Order: sequence, then C-alpha cells, then structure tokens
Amino acid sequence: PVYLDGHATTPLAPEARAAMDPWWHQRAGNPNSPHRHGRFADAAVETARRQVAELIGAMPGEVYFTSGATEANNLALIGSVLAARAQGDTRTQLVVSAIEHKSVLNAAHALERQGITVATAPVTADGVINLERLSQMISKATLLVSVMAANNEIGALQPLAAIAEIVRASGSLLHVDAAQIVGKLPFDASVFDYVSLSSHKMYGPMGIGALYVSGAAAYRPQPILYGGDQEGGLRPGTMATPLVVGFGAAAALATTELHNDTRRTRALAERFEEALRERQVRFTRHGAATARLPGSVSVAFDGIDASELIAAVSDQISISEGSACQSGQITPSHVLRAIGLSDSLLRSTVRIYFGRYNSEDDAVLAAEAIAAAVAKLRLRTGDRLQ
Ligand code: PMP
Repeated sequence: PVYLDGHATTPLAPEARAAMDPWWHQRAGNPNSPHRHGRFADAAVETARRQVAELIGAMPGEVYFTSGATEANNLALIGSVLAARAQGDTRTQLVVSAIEHKSVLNAAHALERQGITVATAPVTADGVINLERLSQMISKATLLVSVMAANNEIGALQPLAAIAEIVRASGSLLHVDAAQIVGKLPFDASVFDYVSLSSHKMYGPMGIGALYVSGAAAYRPQPILYGGDQEGGLRPGTMATPLVVGFGAAAALATTELHNDTRRTRALAERFEEALRERQVRFTRHGAATARLPGSVSVAFDGIDASELIAAVSDQISISEGSACQSGQITPSHVLRAIGLSDSLLRSTVRIYFGRYNSEDDAVLAAEAIAAAVAKLRLRTGDRLQ
C-alpha cells in the first residue's frame, strides 16, 4: 500500500540515510571520547547541531539534542518549573491549549500533582487557539504557556506571532511544540523561549529530536534525567551519533527543499479533495482552508466508521484515525472533541498526509480507494442517498 500517514512519521530521506551510514560502524566512536574516533564523532554532532540551528534560525549553542519531541516537551515543561522553583519564582500556573500533544498535556497533568495549576485554552472549530480566552487565562501567576505550532491530527496552524505578543506582555515563558511544522514550513525559533523538534516528522531518523532553549530565556530548564554532562548537563547520556547526523542531514535537506515540498504537498492534498469531488463522495474537511499544514487532510465521511474505512482501504493506502499515539485507545481524540465535532462526525474522521515522497498518482489512488470503500460501506449501512 501507499504510505499516507506522515503525521505519525515520515520516511527517512535517502540523503539522511546515506549520511548516517558510516557512523554505525566504520566511524563508530563516542563523541565524548578524547581519541581520534571520538573527535570525529564529536565534530559530526556539532555539524548536525549547526544544521538544525540553521533551519530554525537559532544559534548552535541553543540546540540540545533529546530522544524526540516527547522528551523535549517534558524537559521544557518540567525542567522550567524546576528551574523557576530553584530561583524562588513563585508563579505556579501553566497555560496549554486543548489540542496539545499528549506529551505536553500529560507532563502538565503530572505537574498538577506538585502544586502547579493548569489552565486549558479552547480552540475554534478550525482548531485555532482562541486568543481572547488565552489572554484572559494568562496572569501574573503564569509561569509558562505551551502551544503547538501545527496540530498533528488536523494540521491547524496557530497564530504564533500574536500568541508571542500576548505572552511576552505577561512576562511568562513561551514554549512551542514545533514537531509537526519544522522542516515543512519556514519556522523561526528565536522569538520563543523553548521549542521542541522531532527528527522523524521531517524525514530524519526516529529516536532523535531537540529542545531549543533561547539564550534570552529567563530560565534554562533543569535536567529531568541525571547522568553525565553531555548537552551542557541538560540532557545526559551518550549522544546517538548516527541519529544526530541523520537529523542534521534531514534539516539541511529541509532548508533547501522546503519551498518545493510545500508547493508540491499542498497541491497533492488539493488534488485528493478534487478527485473525491469528481467521484461525488460526500465529505467534510476539518480545519481552515489556508491555515493548515501543507499536505495535511483531516476528513470525515458522514455515517462511516473510520476504523472500517481504514481497514477497507488498507490494501491500497495506509491512513489513520486521529493520532497514532492514541490508536488502540477507546477514548476518542481530544483534538476532534476540542474543535466541537459531533460524536458521529468524530467517529467518521480519518487523517491523511501527502508528503515529499508522494505523487499525484498516490493522491488519485487514495481518492479512488476511499470513494469505492465509502460507497460500499454506505450501501451496507442502508444509506442509499449518497
Ligand atoms: N508533538 C507533536 C505535535 C507530535 O505530533 C509528536 C509526534 N506524534 C510529538 C510531539 C512526539 O514526538 P516524538 O515522536 O519525537 O516523541
């Protein structure tokens, strides 16, 4: 089947894979070792740090490698609370949005057990954070605001410049989970305090990511793991040189491919919707027409059970219900709930992503497969009106 689930993970870029190759064996070495192999590995890690920094408009020294965006999100939230406390800062409130990834929401909930209060800002039907409500929630007691740049289920893009202005006026810290946007759209980290990145969402390897910590942030997070003094003591543990090198190569590639990718993937998503309409399939697409991650399509086929649809097309295409991190759970997506979908629309929503390695044929094939399956399923459920 054709892979169309780039929100869950993107295929490794061949260029990143080639860059990683020598670091598994021929050039193996711990970047902390003082011998020649160690020095080479260390130099490769620092090159990757520059490549990642360049993609997000940061200084290399502001990029700390982690195991992924989950760890970066935990480090930003828990580490900044620890740092603030250590400095005698008495602010105890976090503000998050209702559509954050579970690694933000659950880290925030864990902090609730330690005297932190969490306020959750609602979103509009398009999945955009309600700025009025957000500013009402932020007060002198707000230590940190955490919002995502692009949503991993519906692709909604957030008005980050406006959010940054609101948060800056309050003196609170601002963390942005940029896992889904970096490498897909231009992104400037330097206006934020902390930014989380994930390599496997931008055609780099799995198991590596980064936390950007602005040199101007009021606090550098305290570590949440204890060990050696790698990554400036912020994130101990032996650096995974091949993964870091692959992440760096993917970042360098994104720097040059970004505009091409954006144009192509946006056109593929449009072609898919057009092909559905050509086949007279009834559907509702979630999220705004323009403020959306290019290539991302969250779409409901009224009256159809999403899991049945996904199974029916699984020989031709791999698509998903909401978030992969939630699949297997019975609870419906908190994101689709937050945009106010009815239970029936929520159950009939699938998530599709057209990425760098997809073609127009893939977009048409997806529409064909879905049109056929929807017709069959609607017939079966007795809905002959479609
Ligand atoms: N944040 C967002 C918005 C995501 O989409 C994901 C991945 N589903 C993560 C965080 C977690 O990233 P990682 O897989 O690198 O831990």
